Amino acid sequence: MFDCIIVGAGPAGGTAAYHLAKGGKSVVVLEKESLPRYKACSGAVSPQVQQWFDFDFTPAISLKAESVRYTWKMDDPVEVKLDTQEPVWMVQRDVFDHYLIQQAQKQGAEIRDNTAVTGVEFKGDHWQVNTVNGTVEGRYVIAADGATGPMAKWLGFKERKSRLALALEVPKSDTNSKEIHFDFGQVKNGFIWNIPKAEGYSIGLGSLRGGDLKDMEKIVKGYAEKSGLDLSSCKQHEGAICVWEGQEKLHTQNAVLAGEANT
Ligand SMILES: Cc1cc2nc3c(=O)[nH]c(=O)nc-3n(C[C@H](O)[C@H](O)[C@H](O)COP(=O)(O)OP(=O)(O)OC[C@H]3O[C@@H](n4cnc5c(N)ncnc54)[C@H](O)[C@@H]3O)c2cc1C
Repeated sequence: MFDCIIVGAGPAGGTAAYHLAKGGKSVVVLEKESLPRYKACSGAVSPQVQQWFDFDFTPAISLKAESVRYTWKMDDPVEVKLDTQEPVWMVQRDVFDHYLIQQAQKQGAEIRDNTAVTGVEFKGDHWQVNTVNGTVEGRYVIAADGATGPMAKWLGFKERKSRLALALEVPKSDTNSKEIHFDFGQVKNGFIWNIPKAEGYSIGLGSLRGGDLKDMEKIVKGYAEKSGLDLSSCKQHEGAICVWEGQEKLHTQNAVLAGEANT
């Protein structure tokens, strides 16, 4: 029996696994994908996260950005130099998340990928977690299975509303900049973001209110073309985003929701 079963090997699951294993607890992380796994995400990470860890994230950072450009319908630019001690980190999520999981592994956490969780049952004083590879037992469960994971529902929490966002990965060009760009006015109740990485650009688009966006693909491709980016070998992904909608209970008997699973 494990002290804690963590479902999901994203940043929330990796963080929980790292700290629990470091604190001497027996931990297993169950992840449905094969690791390292792609995650539709632009990968802009606040450097503030470093304060919660005693290892250096440098090997997992693709690029650091020191300035942001804001535009309205690609016009009227406002450029802001970020006056922070440490620039904003740009990461490739497969690299970043896997690096964090490897740190947890070094502390003794067991990682089981290709292991989708299919259900959970409370057995009086512990949880039985059912997976495609058999059952796992643990005193506590951390549900870190992201915006569309099934754990919150299985644990009895109310249905969350996730919103669709689009991510376009554009490979590196000669004109790679180190500037983050936010464009407003083209997306109703939302915006377009362009996050530079050493490997290229992650362009994303999403809305924060109202119904799901229409014409996402057309808008994001129009943006890329106006920005002079070559889309011939870009990859397009859809992802879900959960927006925080106020205080809610995030725990139940011996179980807690973590990361985007709790928004
Ligand atoms: C297009 C887009 C752009 C974004 N850009 C940014 C950004 O620039 N900066 C930022 O901070 N945030 C960004 N986000 C949000 C960010 O991606 C999430 O907040 C973050 O990934 C949440 O981390 P997490 O660990 O909670 O969940 P996730 O990273 O989603 O990890 C959950 C894990 O659980 C696994 N899982 C799910 N179901 C099961 C199951 N049944 N059994 C086992 N495993 C399971 C999944 O495979 C996944 O690996 C973006 C999101 C999108 C969609």
